[in-house]
Amino acid sequence: MFENLSERLSGVFDRLTKQGALSEDDVKTALREVRVALLEADVSLPVARDFVKAVQEKATGQAVTKSITPGQQVVKIVHDELVHVLTGEDDPGKLKIDNAPAPILMVGLQGSGKTTTTGKLAKRLKEREGKRVLMASLDVNRPAAMEQLAILGTQIGVDTLPIVKGEDPVQIAKRARTQAGLGGYDVYMLDTAGRLHIDAELIAQAAAVRDAVNPRETLLVVDGLTGQVAVEVAEEFDDKIGVTGVVLTRMDGDGRGGAALSMRAVTGKPIRFVGLGEKMDAIETFEPERIAGRILG
Ligand code: GDP
Repeated sequence: MFENLSERLSGVFDRLTKQGALSEDDVKTALREVRVALLEADVSLPVARDFVKAVQEKATGQAVTKSITPGQQVVKIVHDELVHVLTGEDDPGKLKIDNAPAPILMVGLQGSGKTTTTGKLAKRLKEREGKRVLMASLDVNRPAAMEQLAILGTQIGVDTLPIVKGEDPVQIAKRARTQAGLGGYDVYMLDTAGRLHIDAELIAQAAAVRDAVNPRETLLVVDGLTGQVAVEVAEEFDDKIGVTGVVLTRMDGDGRGGAALSMRAVTGKPIRFVGLGEKMDAIETFEPERIAGRILG
């Protein structure tokens, strides 16, 4: 099973070492295991291929074949390469919120965890950085979503923009900016509408809001359990709206972290946070080491 990639590799090499000296072909056999494991972890084929190639170059240069513990050597090389590919920003958890009030735009598909993540980040900014945060829901098609954000706000002690019926998302965004300015807020977070699929209207709406407020950060929230779909969603959002970072949710589930690797490799965008549950504290700054460990098992 995938969870035991480390063991699996060691197993392969142990079998090989019993036969005597290791050849380059033996290393190749092991790297095939790495590739299969990555695919099982929902890493896309081109990304897995490139990754294995990079590992292969390092492995042949590091006298793995002469090592007495070649399995562990390869595991270490794989680990280091995973961290290398996953590493985005030096300080992914630091949001750009100078020039108060700073707008943060939250985008993503419905059900990805966008509203929850908005609340989690607002709470974090308030508690860790002492920021005054205002949250606003722009989901005019789903009154329940607007109420959900208001309820979260009450729970975590963060203000939400009062709901006014009949406004469009751009009007709400501008009202949030005015209110944030007048009220002395440091940050205002805009929770845009989500849909089950990306469509032209969703993109047009998010783009209009972006143009109206010029966000300091545009964070894309994606469900980490959806693997390749999450990567496709990210590519499209980034292409059409431009994102400054990604939040992977549901990383508390049994997803294997492969989405994180493809996400970085394909979109080039840094993963900033990971969601680890439904509670308002269940969010952490993205740490490449941790995800690498998870992919390796
Ligand atoms: P939205 O439609 O994108 O705004 O999604 P919501 O924020 O309403 O979240 C949808 C569901 O996913 C809710 O039941 C959340 O509690 C849950 N959820 C959000 N983030 C996480 C997470 O990181 N882990 C888990 N297990 N559940 C999450």
